[in-house]
Order: sequence, then structure tokens, then C-alpha cells
Amino acid sequence: MISKHTTEILILGGGIAGCIAAIALSDTYKVTLVDKLEHPIDKVGESLAPATQRIFNVLGLSLKDLEYDNIYLDNLGMQSYWGSEQVQIVDHLRNPDGLSKSVDRKKLACYLRRKAEEKGISCFWGFRLYSNSYLEKTWEVTCKNDDKKNRKTIVFSTNFVIDATGRNAHFAKSIGIKRTTHDALISCWITLPNTDKNTMSSIISDEFGWWYSAVIPNKKRVISYQTDADIFDKSTFKNYHSFCKLLETNSTIRKYVHNKENQIEFHGVVSANSTKLNLASGKQWIALGDAALSFDPLSSQGMFNAMANAMQVSELLRKFNIAKSYNSEKMEKFSNIYTSQIESIWEHYIKHKNLFYSAESRWKKATFWNRRQQKAILS
Ligand SMILES: Cc1cc2nc3c(=O)[nH]c(=O)nc-3n(C[C@H](O)[C@H](O)[C@H](O)COP(=O)(O)OP(=O)(O)OC[C@H]3O[C@@H](n4cnc5c(N)ncnc54)[C@H](O)[C@@H]3O)c2cc1C
Repeated sequence: MISKHTTEILILGGGIAGCIAAIALSDTYKVTLVDKLEHPIDKVGESLAPATQRIFNVLGLSLKDLEYDNIYLDNLGMQSYWGSEQVQIVDHLRNPDGLSKSVDRKKLACYLRRKAEEKGISCFWGFRLYSNSYLEKTWEVTCKNDDKKNRKTIVFSTNFVIDATGRNAHFAKSIGIKRTTHDALISCWITLPNTDKNTMSSIISDEFGWWYSAVIPNKKRVISYQTDADIFDKSTFKNYHSFCKLLETNSTIRKYVHNKENQIEFHGVVSANSTKLNLASGKQWIALGDAALSFDPLSSQGMFNAMANAMQVSELLRKFNIAKSYNSEKMEKFSNIYTSQIESIWEHYIKHKNLFYSAESRWKKATFWNRRQQKAILS
């Protein structure tokens, strides 16, 4: 079955960046939102920066929405064992935007999708980008569902495409845009029940990478280990048993798991490297959020950046109005401004990333740390 759909702005990817952009643009444009997932799934990365509240306020959103209770917990701060055995505490108590939040990623995604639907945005869940072509100032984008027995195809005809498909940037990739990777960081994660009264997050470095743990809603805890893809044998991250052997090597992390071994949910490995799309904007398209820039989880800024980036794009699109009537001169100006915004975010990010990694100097010769310190020297 093939159907056709015409829209002014097509947003591919209904994650955080896609939903926020759709909600921000929906008062001005006919917006369509497409995501390959029928329903959001569990995701690692719970820490939502305090400044997110400013964006939520502008868009009339509230995490406190009763219907989605248990979407977040207040997070008092972070205890880190980084650079020395001595614990350092960074709290958010004096932050004018309030405390950071530990969110349930699946529920947050459901909440944002629901808000987009309530705004009257046309949403197509369970459809993935299949192909596209550009003809006479219009993109024709074909998306298909995954159900082979009941295959549905939608051809979207649109003035403007926003690629918000995450770090794989499927649309940009399909038109030949390459991505520069800065490192090979991966993250292996588990969740388990939490019984600890201390709800601060923890970050602990070791010779081969670093551990992270945080309490998340529904009395759960997430634990992840970050290292480079080539440092351990792949079998270390194959299943819960092999991962637990690594976990046993860290006394602080081991305590969180004690007596809960049978209740661990093993989620496996995800890419967590710093990457940048070589071109974030082209003829009647842009890349947004992780599709444009993906950050090391050490920054805890990915979600906020995706939202802030979506707000910047919405403002620029309204200013240049290229999604209603295309004009090559305006498009060029738009692209230049957007590209310089992205470059500036990346520059700041790399500077901070290098500073954080340089602060750990106990294993200077170890591959994981040596690579990062060399990068810091060269930049
Ligand atoms: C280990 C780890 C820990 C992290 N921790 C944190 C943290 O604590 N705090 C924080 O702020 N950030 C964190 N992040 C980063 C954060 O998860 C991302 O920055 C954020 O999810 C980016 O949002 P996005 O909408 O750009 O992309 P995504 O969340 O990746 O959303 C992309 C969407 O596009 C859809 N999609 C993909 N391909 C297609 C396709 N072909 N067609 C249609 N739809 C498609 C996907 O289903 C998905 O819904 C972490 C990341 C990692 C890897």
C-alpha cells in the first residue's frame, strides 16, 4: 500500500531533537514527524541539565505533568572519583535553574511524542527512511514500515527536511554526507533495583575507562562502563555474566550490585563516541541533535544540546522563512549561520571534553587515557 503526504517540514526522527523541533515549529508550519519506532524504547543517559526547564517553559511543557508521573527524580549532584582516590562532590544546589533531573528516557520520549500529537502535528510512528530524491525545490522522501506481511509505504513531498535520526544521521548519510569520529568510545549498561539512600550520581575512573552510576525513577539504578571499542575483548560485553566479572573489579560499583545479581537487566553496548557530521546543512535540509553532533556521555549535555539546537533551528527557519518559499540566497545565509552555530558548539564541547579528560592523570601510559591526553595536546 502506497500513500502520499505533503508537508512543509518533514522531521525524520521523533526523539528528543525531533519532537522539540516539531513542537517549536508547529505554530508556524505544517510539520510532519516520522520515527522508525512504533513505541519508544529504554535508553541509557538519564541526566537532564537544569537549563532544560527554560526550553520547556517557552514551549509550554512541564515534566511535572501529572499524567506522566514518575518521569523524573531530582538529582542533588555528582560524586566523582576522577584524578584521585578522594571523592569530589559537585552539587546543583546553587544553580539558578534548579536541580538536574534523572529521567526515565522511555517515559520522556512518550511524553514528548504525546505533546507533539496534541499540537496537531502529523505523526507517523513505525516508519523508517527508505529513500529520497530532490526535484524542483522539493524533497520526495519515501518511508516504509518494518512489517513485511503488511508493508506500508508513504511518500512525503516536502519543502524542507530535518534529519533528527540520531548519531547515524540516516538522511544525511543517504545523500553522501560523511561523519568525522573523534574516538571509539562505547558504553555497556545495566539496570537494577536501587536500595541505596544516597541518590547522587557517581563517576569513577579506572585504567581502562570509567564507570557511571545514577538512580533513576521507579526505584531503579543504571550502571554503565565507558571504554574504547578496541580495549577489551568483545566477549567482556557479551552478556550479564561477562560484564559482572568486570564490574567486580570496582569496589564502589560492586556495592550497588551486591545481593541484586539476579535482578540485573543487561542492555548491552551502545556507541558513545564524539562525532560530527561534516556538513550540517544543505539544500533545503539540516541535521539536528545527535545527527549533527554527538557527545561523550561525560558531558551529560546530549539531551540539552538536542533541545537547544532544535530551538535555534526553529528560530532560524522562522527568520528566513525558507520552508514556505524557497530562495537560494536566503538558504545560503541560513546555512552559513546554522553551520557557524554548530561549529561554535563543537569547539566549546571539545575544549571542555579535553579539560575533563586531562584532569585524570593517574594512568598516563594506559591506552585509553593516553589517546585522550594526546588529543588534548594537539588541539
Ligand atoms: C551512553 C550514553 C549516555 C548518555 N547520557 C546522557 C545523559 O546523561 N544526559 C544527556 O543529556 N545526554 C546523554 N546522552 C546523549 C543523549 O542520549 C543524546 O544526545 C540524545 O538522545 C540525542 O537526541 P536526538 O533526538 O538527537 O537523537 P536520538 O535520541 O538518537 O533520537 C533519534 C530518533 O530517530 C529515530 N530514527 C533513527 N533512524 C531512523 C530512520 N532511519 N528513520 C526514522 N527514524 C529514525 C530513532 O528511533 C530515534 O527515536 C548519552 C548518550 C549515550 C550514548
